[in-house]
Amino acid sequence: MTDRKVLYGIGVSAGTASGPAAFVTPAVGIDHDEPASADVEVDGQRVRDALDQVAAGLTERAAHATDSSKQILEATAALAKDRGLVKGIDKELKNGKGVTAAVHDAVEVYAKKLRKIGGYMAERVTDLYDIRDRATARLRGLPEPGVPDLSEPSVLVAHDLAPAETATLDRDMVLGIVTEAGGATSHTAILAAQLGIPAAVKVTGITESLIDATPLALDGGVGEVIVNPSASDVEELEERSRRRAQALAGSSGEGATKDGHKVKLLANIGTAADAANAATMDLEGSGLFRTEFLFLDREQAPTVEEQTETYTSVLKSFGERRVVVRTLDAGADKPLAFADLGPEENPALGQRGVRLTQVREELMDDQLAALAAAREAVPSSDLWVMAPMVATVDEAQWFVDKCRAVGLPKAGIMVETPAAAIRSANVLSIADFASIGTNDLSQYTMAADRLQGELAPLLSPWQPAVLSMIRETCRGGDATGKHIGVCGEAGGDPLMALVLVGLGVSSLSMAPSKVSAVRAALRLHDFETCKQMANYAVDAVNAKEARDAALRLADPVLRDLL
Ligand code: PEP
Ligand code: MG
Repeated sequence: MTDRKVLYGIGVSAGTASGPAAFVTPAVGIDHDEPASADVEVDGQRVRDALDQVAAGLTERAAHATDSSKQILEATAALAKDRGLVKGIDKELKNGKGVTAAVHDAVEVYAKKLRKIGGYMAERVTDLYDIRDRATARLRGLPEPGVPDLSEPSVLVAHDLAPAETATLDRDMVLGIVTEAGGATSHTAILAAQLGIPAAVKVTGITESLIDATPLALDGGVGEVIVNPSASDVEELEERSRRRAQALAGSSGEGATKDGHKVKLLANIGTAADAANAATMDLEGSGLFRTEFLFLDREQAPTVEEQTETYTSVLKSFGERRVVVRTLDAGADKPLAFADLGPEENPALGQRGVRLTQVREELMDDQLAALAAAREAVPSSDLWVMAPMVATVDEAQWFVDKCRAVGLPKAGIMVETPAAAIRSANVLSIADFASIGTNDLSQYTMAADRLQGELAPLLSPWQPAVLSMIRETCRGGDATGKHIGVCGEAGGDPLMALVLVGLGVSSLSMAPSKVSAVRAALRLHDFETCKQMANYAVDAVNAKEARDAALRLADPVLRDLL
């Protein structure tokens, strides 16, 4: 496997990387062909050996880990040796189950008990499932699943990465991320950009094209991956990197076009740590705090006190700079255990976002109470709050009333549905502002699942139909005098950012790592050019022509920023 090979996917986080590949092993389920247990003692010993190996592996990793992950790893190792769990497995074996089925069923029984106890014990269910997956892999003679421990900086290669896995990656050791599956607006892609790690998704064939440690070169801007790159490939990549650095040089301060039309440049964040990190950067606040990212692996709803603490910390990080907090957007690809309304045929069209909190109203009330308390704790803050997935005026009214009731001064909505976009003047007569979520707006306008990589061309925000939706939203903003921002991934594309500004958007929120390129792009163009780009793009017949039309009007240096 030393042949040079070039593969293309979707670039989702700009920047270049080269280094050895490190595989993320997927979890495997029950072995459906395994025989029922004929000798409980022998099989019981096999399972005990597997669990011992899992515990030993975790203990070994704990020895090299930092404080907080050390504790988690040690606690998980202890759980692998839990006598109650082992007894439960013996019982399943006695019932005639095969070894992997016995592990799965016993773990499920144990998980139910932990959930019932609640609190800290319920939180351990995630660890329990981790043990189940590791022991199952061992029993099947396969490698344990998950992100490997990296002994040197590497490029991670995975079929796909769960958001929870991506969120915990070590930035110093992960040079880049390449996945076989995923789409430009999947939450894994979003998190990679959030971490500032160059990344390409939907790179078809990547997992078959290499083995662990195969050298890789990656351009996360254009989505190019070179397997076994030559010396000149690496040089070319470095040259791209240099040109980009040059184009970015001197980009600092407030966002504005060449002729001074101001555009606020904001960060998308998902945790208090993201906020602390983004706040040290040259940007004007946060335009999207995805609060559900705080709770992805939580079994229990967070308390008001706990939430207040987190929100207070985020507000403190940004001082007087704007912070736009989005209320819980659970459902579809961001399921939260404590906000689960049961299986749905079409979760993306189901009870997600504001719809879910209308059913589970206490979740919204607790969150707004916590936000109001955080604002009181940091009176100098500029807190804006918005609800996700709003489709009707009634939903907007419901949310705005709740915000007013607890004294939150700025209550807005996200425009993610065509319904909200084409009736934007109506929803904006109620809400104080709107922020366009181009990821979902593309998904719902084009009726194309944002998680399905093959649909990437349909999901492009360059689709003239999506641009028309954005234009309609901005017209509603004009008619009501309300602020329109963009917080979907489109805002972080330097060329698209110009078109959005031309359409009338006055703030752009994106992964913090993308701010400097967008700022540099704005500085290269005057507002009139942005408007012209927008007109041409909306009038184009397809996505490619829309992008080409904008690019033709762009300064040549812009290409180095893409
Ligand atoms: C969006 O849909 O564009 C958005 C910003 O929300 P999320 O990506 O979290 O769904
Ligand atoms: Mg969305």
